[in-house]
This record gives sequence, structure tokens and C-alpha cells, in this order.
Amino acid sequence: MRQGRTTLHFERGGFYADVENVNAMLCGRCGTRSVPGKMALKISAAVERLFRAGKDLDMTGISFHKLAS
Ligand SMILES: [Zn+2]
Repeated sequence: MRQGRTTLHFERGGFYADVENVNAMLCGRCGTRSVPGKMALKISAAVERLFRAGKDLDMTGISFHKLAS
């Protein structure tokens, strides 16, 4: 495992959110990504807010989109 950055992708109810440049531990062999607990909680709370609002909220720095249908 090594320290690196990754993009997390979330999808729900016709919307998706991409969280870029997340510090994580990455495994070069199997591709496993591990985000430290505190950061994971912060991210899921921010993403939860976006899904609830159904739109981009400036301060999060997370890109939020409607899925093309
Ligand atoms: Zn591995």
C-alpha cells in the first residue's frame, strides 16, 4: 500500500458526484483504495448534503451532475 490520491464516485437517484484528489492508501497490485475513517466520514457527509439539495453547492469542491438519461 502506498499514499496517493484517488477519485471517489457516488451515484443516487439520477445524480452523481465525483470527489477528486482524495488522499487514500492505494494498492498497486489489486487496486484496493482505503480512505482514512475521518476523511471518509467528512466526504460522505458532504455528498449526502449534495444529494439532498439535488444541486451543486459551491463550498464542497465536489462536482455534482445529473445523469444523462
Ligand atoms: Zn492489494
